[in-house]
Amino acid sequence: MRGKNAVVTGGARGIGEAIAGVLAKMGANIAIWDVLSDQARDAAAALAGKHGVKAAGLAVDVTRGESVEAAVEETLGEMGGIDILINNAGITRDGLIIRMREEDWDRVLAINLKGVWQCSKSVGRVMLKARRGAIVNIASVVGVMGNAGQANYSASKAGVIGLTKTSAKEFAPRGVRVNAVAPGYIRTPMTDKLTDEQRERLRALIPLGQLGTPADVADAVAFLASDAARYITGQTINVCGGMVM
Ligand code: NDP
Repeated sequence: MRGKNAVVTGGARGIGEAIAGVLAKMGANIAIWDVLSDQARDAAAALAGKHGVKAAGLAVDVTRGESVEAAVEETLGEMGGIDILINNAGITRDGLIIRMREEDWDRVLAINLKGVWQCSKSVGRVMLKARRGAIVNIASVVGVMGNAGQANYSASKAGVIGLTKTSAKEFAPRGVRVNAVAPGYIRTPMTDKLTDEQRERLRALIPLGQLGTPADVADAVAFLASDAARYITGQTINVCGGMVM
């Protein structure tokens, strides 16, 4: 990874922060793109200090084309190229279908699905020109198996898996690989909202018997982003303690 430049969307905290940390530990320079601009800058400064890599934190809204385009230009200006893109930014706005508000449907689809397309388009153009690159999209096991109360979220993540396969086919002739990681239940600010009872019920569904950690996801992402995965494209790896097989 040394000398490679990686973009991590939503990398200011949670799973994205862990991914940025593992890639930096392996020697990659990191650009964190997040709507949380102060947190993105702080996380980048911490990575640069700890791992001696170049790191930048940029205020980016992945749903807005002009914001992503500006971030590509700024990142290229600071780092000279982009070799790795991790599409991690994502949100939940849960509710049963018949009660779900239209704005919650639209917002989740905009960030979780359109955002992945937008970043893949703008960064993909750079990678296709360079004839190399690796993209890893963060999906979810609920995109594979569905989940009552998460119509918007599961649809967006199923969309991410389809988009992963299409981008893999479009980009493969130019040496750019695209894969997805589908995490199960991972301990982050997103899942801290669960009650103890909900957490216990989940644990019972997981063959390995515990919720995952951001590091569990980050290690799988780092593998797919690295040259060790050079013959793998269009695949989704479930990192879920065996919940989906
Ligand atoms: P977090 O909420 O902890 O982190 C997501 C980050 O993305 C936040 O910093 C968030 O900022 C940022 N973000 C939100 N909207 C945008 C946007 N428009 N542009 C740029 N950045 C944005 O979530 P997790 O770490 O838990 O999740 C990371 C990914 O993993 C997501 O795609 C999620 O769907 C997926 N995932 C998580 C699972 C889990 O159990 N935690 C399970 C399966 C998948 P802000 O806080 O301001 O919204």
